[in-house]
Amino acid sequence: MPELPEVETVRLGMEPALIGRRLRRVLVRRSDLRVPVPENFSKALKGQRIVSTQRRGKYILGFTGGDEAFVLHLGMSGRILIVPPGQRYAFAKHDHVVFETEDGSKVIFNDPRRFGMMYLASRKSWSTLKPFNAMGPEPLADDFTGRVLADALRGRASPIKTTLLDQNVVAGVGNIYACEALFESQIDPRRPAGTVQGREAARLAASIRDVLQRAIAAGGSSLKDYALTDGSRGYFQTAFSVYDREGQSCPGCVCQKKRGAKGIRRIIQGGRSTFYCADKQA
Ligand SMILES: [Zn+2]
Repeated sequence: MPELPEVETVRLGMEPALIGRRLRRVLVRRSDLRVPVPENFSKALKGQRIVSTQRRGKYILGFTGGDEAFVLHLGMSGRILIVPPGQRYAFAKHDHVVFETEDGSKVIFNDPRRFGMMYLASRKSWSTLKPFNAMGPEPLADDFTGRVLADALRGRASPIKTTLLDQNVVAGVGNIYACEALFESQIDPRRPAGTVQGREAARLAASIRDVLQRAIAAGGSSLKDYALTDGSRGYFQTAFSVYDREGQSCPGCVCQKKRGAKGIRRIIQGGRSTFYCADKQA
């Protein structure tokens, strides 16, 4: 599933095609996504100019000059494809929503599994409505500090790894980047979340930011479906320290040299795989 770095990479890829452009045509080819595309979707957006975009957690918002905005969630397998002006393109089976701009670019939402969403919101009130009204802090915002994270974790008995996946604790972090950030900050993923406080919370907050920023710079992680808006693949999966590396040793770690070292283990937490170094994160 696309996490914050993949969603941010897609948003950045959409901007040049959309910003400042009027939508000449908005085509809904299939509306039965996880949440149905609203009936008035095309009518509300057609003729409007997109003036800005924003990412919040794993959602992308596109704001028009008026009060209308579109909200996009990539779900499990959703992707955005941009077709430049003048390039011929035959719609594919899973191209569900198409924005055509005044200069002839097409911004296409393709989603084979249809767990994604495309719906409307209001510029004035979007942040007061679900899921945004309960969403946790943005980890790349300036005000995401160790103290903010410590406050969000305080009193929570569930394991820190599982807790980081809760979008109401930290927005945008998913399985891959939770594993990688816990490795970087040397925290055992099984620790009760509420015990990660003070300097450890500061270290974890810094690691979350660092891992997410490095992943964005790499265009995200392409494991299965995820691709950039030009169809190319992200390459952060080549830089994983622990994720999907069970039985191996991790870069620059004591587990490479120590006799009887345990190295990277895989456990199941909350139904998801957690990868961690049993030597470094103990
Ligand atoms: Zn290690």
